[in-house]
Parts: sequence; structure tokens; C-alpha cells
Amino acid sequence: MSTDPNCIFCKIVAGQIPAQKVHEDDALVVFHDINPWAPVHVLIVPKVHVASLAVAGPGHEPLLGRMLALAPRLMQQLGVTQGFRVVVNTGRDGGQEVDHLHMHVMGGPRPWARG
Ligand code: AMP
Ligand code: ZN
Repeated sequence: MSTDPNCIFCKIVAGQIPAQKVHEDDALVVFHDINPWAPVHVLIVPKVHVASLAVAGPGHEPLLGRMLALAPRLMQQLGVTQGFRVVVNTGRDGGQEVDHLHMHVMGGPRPWARG
């Protein structure tokens, strides 16, 4: 599996940096964002290092599908009942700060208040 030794999310995937994990399977890790914008704010992160949605191709369609399909299950598990927001910041102008593909999932009251 492709990893980048300098990538913070690859280090979380490898267990080299701690994170508040809420889900892990063969392809994905999910953990709470360290600087949440909403009462519930998790990041769905593929274990494989993909730098950005901008470089994802047809081969990544199953992975992207799994990331998106996991969001409602996680929100239910975390007690979010009134809806949530999904965001994939992509590239410099998209506000991407960590260059490892990730999906923000934000729930709880007023998830649109910041960000
Ligand atoms: P983005 O702007 O989409 O690249 O967002 C990256 C997100 O990763 C930000 O919301 C950060 O708060 C979050 N983040 C960065 N480092 C960590 C970490 N070690 N553990 C959890 N979340 C992190
Ligand atoms: Zn990475």
C-alpha cells in the first residue's frame, strides 16, 4: 500500500501519531478532527496515501464510494440525528491543508457556523 513517511495522516494510519479513532476497517480510518468546526467533526481517511481528490482516478471509485457510504453510518453511531455536512477540501484554492485525501463529516447543531 502506498504511504508517505512525511504525511501526518499516514502516520496516524500507521499508529505513529495518536488520534481519537472512531472506526477502522481494511481500507479506512476515521478519527475526530483535532480542531473541530462542529459538535461532531470526524475525518474519514483512506489508509492508502492519495494526495488529494484532484489526483483520484477511476481506480479510486470503490474507495470514494466507501468513504461516502460510511458517513451516514458513522453519524448515526455518533448520535447525529438532524443531518450533517460532508466536505472534501481539494488543493490550494480548495483550502486543503493536509495533502492526504480526507472527507470531513460534521454534525450536531449549526455545522455551517464556521468553515
Ligand atoms: P483540510 O483543510 O481539509 O486539509 O483539513 C485538515 C484537517 O485535519 C483540519 O481540520 C485539521 O484540524 C485536521 N488535523 C490536522 N492534524 C490532525 C491530527 N493530528 N489529528 C486530527 N485532526 C487533525
Ligand atoms: Zn498520507
